[in-house]
Amino acid sequence: MQHVWSKILFNAISPESMLHVNAAISGEEIVVLNVQELEKKSAEGLKEHLEPLVGVTKFRQRLFLEDNDREIEFHDDAETQNIQLVILPFWTPDVEHEQDIITACAIDDVQTLQVFLEKPLDPNLRISFDDALKGWCLLCLANSYSSPRCVHLLVLAGVEVQHLCRGGRPCGT
Ligand SMILES: [Zn+2]
Repeated sequence: MQHVWSKILFNAISPESMLHVNAAISGEEIVVLNVQELEKKSAEGLKEHLEPLVGVTKFRQRLFLEDNDREIEFHDDAETQNIQLVILPFWTPDVEHEQDIITACAIDDVQTLQVFLEKPLDPNLRISFDDALKGWCLLCLANSYSSPRCVHLLVLAGVEVQHLCRGGRPCGT
């Protein structure tokens, strides 16, 4: 993932530039950053910087350029210094999506799990459709299948690690 995240985004802005990040709906200013402060000068890096400031992980953040509705992508050159932040509500998977999520956790398919987490899927989701796995959380699922990359990604996405089951039993049993 590092190679994607390190794509330069803010190279069009001079090092002295200030970057204003505003809440999209209220217009309230969330933070003003000196571009030099950003360790990773990418949309991903900016989202990571905003995580402690707005209290939600990068998976739920969407960044837009102020003058149009286009979401900032990793490869964009940001010529504007005003950026709008939208925090998305969690997305609810249907029965088919749930099976895809279970499979991703079972085979350590971290790319597929990331796509779901960016929808954004609640990392603390409990399995609800699958009879055999009903009540399991994703962290226990990935852990029980020995899927370390999925476990790591769920932690990045803000999963509550105290949900981790003891003795290989499903959550809540
Ligand atoms: Zn669990």
